[in-house]
Amino acid sequence: MDVRNRRIIVTGASSGIGEATARMAHAGGAEVCLVARRADRLAELVAELGDRAWSMVCDVSDPSDIAALAAATDDRWGAVDGLVNNAGIAHMAGLDDTDLDTWQETFDVNLRGPFLLCRDLGRLLKLGRSPAVVNVSSSLAEHPLPGMAAYNASKAGLNHLTRCLAAEWAPTVRVNAVMPAVVDTPIHATRGMTEEQVAEMGDLHPLGRVGRPEDIASMILFLMSDAASWMTGAVIPVDGGILLT
Ligand code: NDP
Repeated sequence: MDVRNRRIIVTGASSGIGEATARMAHAGGAEVCLVARRADRLAELVAELGDRAWSMVCDVSDPSDIAALAAATDDRWGAVDGLVNNAGIAHMAGLDDTDLDTWQETFDVNLRGPFLLCRDLGRLLKLGRSPAVVNVSSSLAEHPLPGMAAYNASKAGLNHLTRCLAAEWAPTVRVNAVMPAVVDTPIHATRGMTEEQVAEMGDLHPLGRVGRPEDIASMILFLMSDAASWMTGAVIPVDGGILLT
């Protein structure tokens, strides 16, 4: 999990899994670019992390924001060693109740965002040292939960985008994905769930608890590091065993 001196962009770094990944990468000696929409929160984190951290306000559903991120990264680093496509949203809605805006927003953030980030940062990644992309998918891509049709489908698309890109970019850039099950982050509050309800979902997992953001961050950093130098196109559950059930 050696990420020393690697230049890593983490989207959705203002919260949850992305924040934990950015913190862990930074603690491991990486240079980190934190990306999200909330400027205040990003500024707080960069101030706390100090040297080797910077941020960029970017809505990953906005192609012009992504182009601006690529330009700023080119100016600052001139190359990228790692991209973590982690920003994501989850609306609760079954297919019958999914309106076009919900479907579109979910796909724009969860699938089109990673596509545009990879496309626009591709040149810089190919100039990087042992470059790697990690996409944050979901166990729901393989085992869908009723009531989240757009989310489940967007993450299934992300799994396949991972494989497509891994095949296209080999041997230069490795591309892998992780599939978390329930992880204790603020995303569940956006679906109207309380802390207690999130904790109770621990019982759904054979390992008896919900995940911590660091459980996912450590796998992301493994995939980012040269310890995973013979892995590409892998879509890996990090899920407390939930896909066994
Ligand atoms: P959080 O809600 O804690 O974090 C989501 C992050 O994404 C925030 O930093 C948010 O920042 C950012 N974000 C959301 N929309 C956009 C956007 N349009 N542009 C840029 N950034 C955006 O959620 P998690 O940490 O739980 O989720 C991270 C990833 O993990 C997601 O892809 C999610 O689908 C996936 N996942 C999570 C699971 C869980 O149980 N927590 C389970 C399986 C997968 P800001 O608001 O500042 O823009």
